[in-house]
Amino acid sequence: MAIFEYMATLRVTVPCFSCMKEVEKNQARLIKGITADARYECFSCFKKNKTQPWGFGDEIKQKVGFYCQRCKYKFRARKECCPYCNKSDFVTKGDLTVHDLI
Ligand SMILES: [Zn+2]
Ligand SMILES: [Zn+2]
Repeated sequence: MAIFEYMATLRVTVPCFSCMKEVEKNQARLIKGITADARYECFSCFKKNKTQPWGFGDEIKQKVGFYCQRCKYKFRARKECCPYCNKSDFVTKGDLTVHDLI
């Protein structure tokens, strides 16, 4: 009896305020609105509304191209430090092109 009650609470569904679909309560996100009524948003609507929740794309763009003349190693990092020799004295900023080698 107790197990059946437990199963029932797991299958409780709530309507998504955005797409009006019935979603499982534990899969939905509770949104506190202006009114006292609880509103739920399903996961697919949450993904649609927040396209880049962690700003992951911006983080990659912040990396700068470097070149260590000592190791002749090209790398991309956030700070001017060669991952091979762990030093920055021979590190030049910017992506090295064929033109720079001449
Ligand atoms: Zn939805
Ligand atoms: Zn180096």
